[in-house]
Amino acid sequence: MPDHNSPQETPQNVRRRPVVAIDGPAGAGKSTLAAHLARRFGFLNLETGAMYRALALKAIEQDFDFEEEAPLLVIAAETSIVLEPQREGNRVLLDNVDVSRRIRENDVTSAASRISVHPRLRAWMVEQQRALGRDGGVVMEGRDIGTAVFPDAEVKIFLDAAPEVRGNRRYRQTGDVARVTEAAVIEELKERDRRDRTRAESPLKPAEDAVILDSTTMSLEQVLAQAEAIVREHVAELQGS
Ligand code: C5P
Repeated sequence: MPDHNSPQETPQNVRRRPVVAIDGPAGAGKSTLAAHLARRFGFLNLETGAMYRALALKAIEQDFDFEEEAPLLVIAAETSIVLEPQREGNRVLLDNVDVSRRIRENDVTSAASRISVHPRLRAWMVEQQRALGRDGGVVMEGRDIGTAVFPDAEVKIFLDAAPEVRGNRRYRQTGDVARVTEAAVIEELKERDRRDRTRAESPLKPAEDAVILDSTTMSLEQVLAQAEAIVREHVAELQGS
């Protein structure tokens, strides 16, 4: 008899709480949505982008070439990245140092986008992310959660919006602090999208069974309410099974 109480032995087909996969391009509002759903349903909120960002920060600090995969794999193997879910997002520890703020800065954003094209580096990330979400009860947010990390996720939401709208929202959140123009923010988002959508390994695209929420003309409240209704349905289904 398999021991269903042991986290290590829990097969995915007996998950009692869902994996909620939230994917989509930069600035679509995934983090806000993920944090909201995690609070609402008492799930863990895991931001996979923060893992790419943390490793990118280490590559910056150690002056590595972002285009070279092999040396990045070597540092990855010696690196500890811990996501600590909090009410509003993740506290991120890189080799036991809190880098939660630093990884949001522009140089790290750009480096994370560059290192995330490497297939073996992605495989290393995916392995860790699967271990984190194995028992369900998580909202995992990224670019490839519904397609590569948890293709069997019970809930898959692809959150999208027109680039201008995403750029405008991002600019209003960070523009003054980052001292950049709105046009520059939109360009940067488009460039990251292009890299995410065209990479050979798990490019950004909706899973075939994902629900697509296009928030271009939706309010935040509408997005949260629709997503919440989708998750509630699946939670009820799993509990009834
Ligand atoms: O989501 P966030 O903007 O923090 O992600 C940083 C970068 O990491 C993205 O630009 C994307 O290229 C990469 N990423 C990824 N796969 C994920 C999460 C993030 O390729 N699951």
